[in-house]
Amino acid sequence: MKSDIEDRELSRLGDIDPQVFRTFGYRIIDWVADYLEHPEKYPVLANVVPGEIRSQLPAVPPEQPEPMSTIVDDVERIIVPGLTHWNHPAFMAYFGTSGSVPGILGELLCSAFNVNAMLWKTSPAATELEEVALDWLRQMIGLPAGFSGIIYDTASVSTLHAVAAAREAVPGLNSRELGLSGRSDAPRLRLYASEQAHSSVEKAAITLGIGQAGFRKIPVDSEFRMVPEALQQAVEDDRKVGWTPFCAVATVGTTSTTSVDPVPAIADICRKHSIWLHVDAAYGGAAATIPEMRWIMEGCDRADSLVVNPHKWIFTPMDLSAFYTQRMNVLKQAFSLVPEYLKTGQDASVRNMMDYGVQLGRRFRALKLWMIIRTYGRSGIEARIREHMRLARMFASWVEEDPAFELLAPVPFSTICFRALPTGNSDDGDRLNDALLSAVNATGEVFLSHTRLHNKFTIRMAIGNIRTDEKVVRRAWELLKANLDRLRGENSR
Ligand SMILES: *Cc1c(COP(=O)(O)O)cnc(C)c1O
Repeated sequence: MKSDIEDRELSRLGDIDPQVFRTFGYRIIDWVADYLEHPEKYPVLANVVPGEIRSQLPAVPPEQPEPMSTIVDDVERIIVPGLTHWNHPAFMAYFGTSGSVPGILGELLCSAFNVNAMLWKTSPAATELEEVALDWLRQMIGLPAGFSGIIYDTASVSTLHAVAAAREAVPGLNSRELGLSGRSDAPRLRLYASEQAHSSVEKAAITLGIGQAGFRKIPVDSEFRMVPEALQQAVEDDRKVGWTPFCAVATVGTTSTTSVDPVPAIADICRKHSIWLHVDAAYGGAAATIPEMRWIMEGCDRADSLVVNPHKWIFTPMDLSAFYTQRMNVLKQAFSLVPEYLKTGQDASVRNMMDYGVQLGRRFRALKLWMIIRTYGRSGIEARIREHMRLARMFASWVEEDPAFELLAPVPFSTICFRALPTGNSDDGDRLNDALLSAVNATGEVFLSHTRLHNKFTIRMAIGNIRTDEKVVRRAWELLKANLDRLRGENSR
């Protein structure tokens, strides 16, 4: 017989009482609803100095249990002031993203179910929903049916897998078995992308034994698009001196200016030289959902693989990157390694997602994407992306019409690169724009970021949060103009 004391001890094990979950679950949902309703309560950019948050937190873990109410209070008191609010409608730095309502609910369910989608058997619905949701998205962006998809965490990791598959496809290389180091018989592999390509391409080269020396950057034209003739020349020159060109990455919507590489011409070159073509459409791919932007996918039907990030501009909370390939078998060849204890009776008839990448355990990310697509419908997603592009064109027209400002790149999507014009020869445009950016960000009302184009400090505004509307964009413009006037006034004094 157990004593009462033993009973009490036992009752302290296991998870906390579901009643506590219910109480604080409601409280947190209420808090989140208020947060989404009144983002203007918070400065977009965290107004803290390095170490400020850490100094408020104990350096050692609590020995005794703490009540949930204290923990939740500390989130509001300590953590929230240290957040940069990516979910704020005036977050227009980098690329705006969204924790949309169906996305947040999907994440909640994802952790509640806590399934691991490594094998079909370890959660059949997770694997099958991933196949379905990715096939919906494939149709939405106009990729042919020959592409099938898998979800990774980020575009960087998607591109890593693309380059790994490309390496696997090099005839006779057999890097899977023999590796690349210390082999006198291994060719020097060459990977190509434009000067404007995302750093994740070079990181893939670093990770996969290609090395930075094996990564060749191709020049861009005056509108930041890869020059295909330069790629062609580079491939031919490389071949002559013993390199093995094996992979090229074209970008549809580069990170800095959102330029679109000429994919059809790049695809021709890749086809001719048996080079794996990967398309990085992490941001831009979202725009292919709207018919008038379908042109950006031209040539992508001939790509071996493509990545698009729903966690960028398809209103999906971090993280969810959609990777598509017409050559799933090569990806499987590169990564499948099945220990005895993971063998199942269905292996011949199902897709076990662990066979297609580095990671074994996988979150049930498909759930939120499926909920998002259903909640807004294709038409709702299209309408929101179209509106973001309208707002960007509107903002770009203000910049163009104002003699105090200039556009520094075309605006094919929802991102505007611009700067304030320096007055007179003595004026330092870089310093002026750096100061202007800091000034508008210091208001806490908006958050913009920067890049460098034509060797000029460039202010960059990217519209992509689901709650960004015309009012927000108008306010950003007002702040820019008012702060520019103020800075100019101070300079002339
Ligand atoms: C943002 C971006 C990436 C990186 O995306 P992650 O999901 O953060 O890894 C890659 N390529 C392009 C073109 C991007 O804009």
